[in-house]
Amino acid sequence: MSTPTVHPTHSGRHEARDYAQTPLNIYWEMTQACALACRHCRAEAVPCAHPQELTFAEGVAFLRQVNDFGSPLPHLILTGGDPLERQGLFELIDQARELGIGVSITPAATPKLTREMLVRLREHGVEGLGLSLDGSTAERHDSIRGVPGTFERTMQALRCAGELEMPIQVNTLVAAETADDIPAVFDLLKEFAVTRWSLFFLISVGRGKVLQPLTPDQGEKLMEWIYETSRIAPFTVATTEAPSYRRVALDRMRAAGMTSDQIKRTGAYRGFGIRDGHGIMFVSHTGDICPAGFLPLVAGNVRRDRVADVYRTSLVFQALHDPAQFRGRCGYCEYKVLCGGSRARAYSATGDPLAEDPFCHYEPHPR
Ligand code: SF4
Repeated sequence: MSTPTVHPTHSGRHEARDYAQTPLNIYWEMTQACALACRHCRAEAVPCAHPQELTFAEGVAFLRQVNDFGSPLPHLILTGGDPLERQGLFELIDQARELGIGVSITPAATPKLTREMLVRLREHGVEGLGLSLDGSTAERHDSIRGVPGTFERTMQALRCAGELEMPIQVNTLVAAETADDIPAVFDLLKEFAVTRWSLFFLISVGRGKVLQPLTPDQGEKLMEWIYETSRIAPFTVATTEAPSYRRVALDRMRAAGMTSDQIKRTGAYRGFGIRDGHGIMFVSHTGDICPAGFLPLVAGNVRRDRVADVYRTSLVFQALHDPAQFRGRCGYCEYKVLCGGSRARAYSATGDPLAEDPFCHYEPHPR
């Protein structure tokens, strides 16, 4: 599994909170181990767990730390690698649930992802399931995922999760190699009980460097299509690592004469203000604390630091909490609070996490 799950959570829960104090979602990369070999894998997943992976006791200690954030607690998204490869997975889920932490999971579509596995996850209190679907056919999806049969397993997991009434988020990669297939993926997903569909705009890190991102013009046109599609879709449609979609959606809603109250009730509004390191944080398989899976700036490690302290007070996170520190167009853009650009893409392109998001099509007026 490499495509990230997103904000807000699978279950659609979204309480008001100060994202400079508490993230909505914490992504825990439980292990790098994974049987797939996805072409865009952030984690550069490998067949076996890393020897420095957090031990079970260290994993439990990390979960206890999450309570430092106070109420409402962040939601925990178990990712990887493949979290189903993690030793002690169910005991760790139980620990999180006992601590009052909501849990979702993003398993890889391997032979381990059976109906029995989904039933067990449900019984242990897992609230949501994230699945990756990067093509509308076996040929297209499996060529991205690197293992034949992955498409069929994903279809089977979608059917089973729907029957079990598990909230399902589907993540779809947006890159030059997949963009023409996105409408067909949408048509396919309408056949399933999907809760949320998130279009993940490629960030070139890890194995993602072998795929090509869209140009800003192509991205803008796709965002217009996403907005139109979101109005007729039977599920929420969102983007990941393309926060400038919020600008597109807000402009379209305002042009349609929607009031502020009406806009606040839309699915698009729920993501406003959340970005890498602000509303989300990431803990790696070795305990490194980063703003996001695609923004590998290490601000601390759960083996020696408290996650809440790092999130609230480290220089890295404090800068990401503050749009006034952003540079280039994102620094003087009127949308910088609700959007702020993809910090991960800025970092990937320039080495500066506060630089402008080079993917954005918009030219704000300098003040
Ligand atoms: S310039 Fe930056 S803040 Fe403004 S819409 Fe584009 S990505 Fe968002």
